[in-house]
Amino acid sequence: MKVAKFGGTSLANAEQIRKVCSIITADPERRLVVVSAPGKRFKDDIKVTDLLIKCAEKYIECGKADEEMEAVVARYAEIAKEMNIGDEIVDIIKKDLCERLSGDISNKAKFMDLLKAAGEDNSAKLVAQYLKSIGVEARYINPKDAGLFLSDEFGNARVLPQSYENLKALKDMDGILIFPGFFGYSLQGDVVTFPRGGSDITGSILAAAIGADMYENFTDVDSVFVANPNIVRNPKPISVVTYREMRELSYSGFSVLHEETLEPVYRRGIPVCIKNTNNPSAPGTMIVPERKSKNGPVVGISCDNGFCTIFVSKYMMNREIGFGRRLLQILEDEKLSYEHVPSGIDSISVILKEKQLNAEIEERILKRIKNELEVDDVSIERGLSLVMLVGESMMRTVGIASRATGAFAKAGVNIEVINQGSSEVSMMFGVRAEDADKSVRALYEEFFGGE
Ligand code: ASP
Repeated sequence: MKVAKFGGTSLANAEQIRKVCSIITADPERRLVVVSAPGKRFKDDIKVTDLLIKCAEKYIECGKADEEMEAVVARYAEIAKEMNIGDEIVDIIKKDLCERLSGDISNKAKFMDLLKAAGEDNSAKLVAQYLKSIGVEARYINPKDAGLFLSDEFGNARVLPQSYENLKALKDMDGILIFPGFFGYSLQGDVVTFPRGGSDITGSILAAAIGADMYENFTDVDSVFVANPNIVRNPKPISVVTYREMRELSYSGFSVLHEETLEPVYRRGIPVCIKNTNNPSAPGTMIVPERKSKNGPVVGISCDNGFCTIFVSKYMMNREIGFGRRLLQILEDEKLSYEHVPSGIDSISVILKEKQLNAEIEERILKRIKNELEVDDVSIERGLSLVMLVGESMMRTVGIASRATGAFAKAGVNIEVINQGSSEVSMMFGVRAEDADKSVRALYEEFFGGE
């Protein structure tokens, strides 16, 4: 049995949904299907999830959001009309939205999740209805009935362990099961969503729970590429990548999969295949436990922007017991999470996402670091990009760092930070944001250009 997940662009209109349904019915093993909310039909279109967010915001502000709700209903109505599945489903969707809007708005995050979840929930109902209309045995599955329970962190939920046992039962149900992605229920019975893009996570949880033979993730590209196609022209596709490599790539800028997707399938060794709804016969990218290094030690080059460095120096820092802990405690007190901590004998840099900082927090932490740790120097530098070279066998290959730094030098890029060795899978280079694209191109040329 396979779990197949279809992303927003695969459900954006009737034509796309027909493609999805013919992919589902083409393989009898595709019995558990996860769907996203309808996504963008064209470049400047608005995703249904974003329409729902606007709707919730308007309702919270004005106690009314007729226009915004109509915009959501119109998306589904257009699809239903083109698919000839009657008006009844549109009435069901309208009623559902009205019920959600009459929910309690005193907890904004909770109300927002209730609304956001309507996108995938109604998408699943619509797809099930269409399959039934063409004579396929299909049914919509409600995540609560199936037992998908999540932590009550609205907008940022995590799966609760008992869900896996509950969801196992889906394996023995007849017909094709259409499961809405992106949300589940808290133990108190509230709708809770994963972070944005979280339908990928739902698919992975279901695949792990039923012990699927494969988790197929259908999107709108033929495969994952070695580097971002918006930066490198016609980059090479990746045919096989390991979970650990893919995790590093999606953490640092590869947006094909949500970065939290792989954990459930990784723990159970279930292979993942990224495929294209618009070209299902393309082989796609396989994500597996191990790969033979036949495509070279480097599998991909990623890049993410928006980081900053807190640079701290103090003479004889290495002799001061507890210095690192006290520094990180200051960040913890401010509820800041950090990404990397490269250090030297008398200095330490903490790299974090800069959107977490505002002028006020920045001033407070600088003051505390200066006063409490009695440092010689502390400063925050913004506008850092992290460029990652990813590949499991890099660490056993002589000369990778030298080739990489050579490529930076040739491109005239100054490397601000290097972090190599703490991850067995990646090498990290911090560069100024304005040098990021240039760096990716230089590394691509070095590691893939001549092939
Ligand atoms: N519809 C949700 C979003 O736009 C979740 C998803 O598509 O995976 O974030």
